[in-house]
Amino acid sequence: MDHKGRQKRLRKELESSRLDFLLVTHLPNIRYLCGFTGSAGTLVVAPTKSLFFTDGRYTEQARSEVEGARVVIARKSPIAAAGEWLSSHARKRRSLIMGVEGEHLSVAQRALLAKCLGRGFRLREAPPLVEKARMVKDAAELSLLRAAVNLGASLFEHALRAIRPGVKETEVAAEMEYVARRAGAEGMSFDTIIASGPRSALPHGRASQAAIPAHGFVVCDFGVILAGYCSDMTRTVFVGQPSDEDRRVYAAVLGAQQAAVEAVKPGIGVGEIDQAGRKYLKKNGLDRHFTHSTGHGVGLEIHEPPRIAAGQSEVLQPGMVITIEPGVYLPGKGGVRIEDMVEVTGDGCAVLTPTSKELITI
Ligand code: ZN
Ligand code: ZN
Repeated sequence: MDHKGRQKRLRKELESSRLDFLLVTHLPNIRYLCGFTGSAGTLVVAPTKSLFFTDGRYTEQARSEVEGARVVIARKSPIAAAGEWLSSHARKRRSLIMGVEGEHLSVAQRALLAKCLGRGFRLREAPPLVEKARMVKDAAELSLLRAAVNLGASLFEHALRAIRPGVKETEVAAEMEYVARRAGAEGMSFDTIIASGPRSALPHGRASQAAIPAHGFVVCDFGVILAGYCSDMTRTVFVGQPSDEDRRVYAAVLGAQQAAVEAVKPGIGVGEIDQAGRKYLKKNGLDRHFTHSTGHGVGLEIHEPPRIAAGQSEVLQPGMVITIEPGVYLPGKGGVRIEDMVEVTGDGCAVLTPTSKELITI
């Protein structure tokens, strides 16, 4: 669906949410709706048209990127300009309701907007309409995501070449990031995680100056941003000879990951996916060491809805792309996490990450 189509669909949602306008300030939502990739701007979606306000730094960029909205170059802050434009152009037969993305609007911005809009407008917290639309990827997005996943996955072989006892974790990350940029990545989706030895028990062990020890797990969690879309994957390798216990822990996490992947299909609640992996770990007596949720949506943002966790009510639909990433963390010893990106299809799912999950020893 093109940008205009996305805005058209949003307008229908605005109507049923009883909002006259939506002020979009979250940059990934702006990119999704009108294509602008810069870092300052406000999109106003009105009943019959859209306006995109940005500042002078983005004159050229906005004119070439923005689709489906008139570009207005603001002399002051885009939010103030949007407010003033609306207060002078909107027909006011009654009090109009302006939906805002409360989570992405500071208190100061909200006050400024209210002041510029003046009377005749009421601000109201909008439901997450754009986030909801973004959960289901269209064909163009799916192909961009696949390209990002494949580039991301290609970095793993560079990690494998770099991981050796005595090499710093940051050196491994640097090798991967250099290759990613050379291949056209805009950047990494998040700070590359290379967590070795006892550090592998830290679920978010960003690459540090620590040298990789001669014995133990190394968790590698990484992703790229390619053409706006993020990838995310984790593989855990072993340096030295794993003990039977190490192999058992790895096999349990792999089994849990596969059980959760097998549960992915349209119509299933995300809580059930989470439960599938946890149940497998429980059978192996390791569930209490799985201390985070099972996964998350991925797209223009590295973490976006739905969250794959207990207590979440979202139901999977074809076109959603999520991660499945159970892990087991044994404090002081080490940890294992295995993560794939998975697309929900019409009758089940497709694992997008092409990389083998067999235990690799170095
Ligand atoms: Zn990850
Ligand atoms: Zn993830």
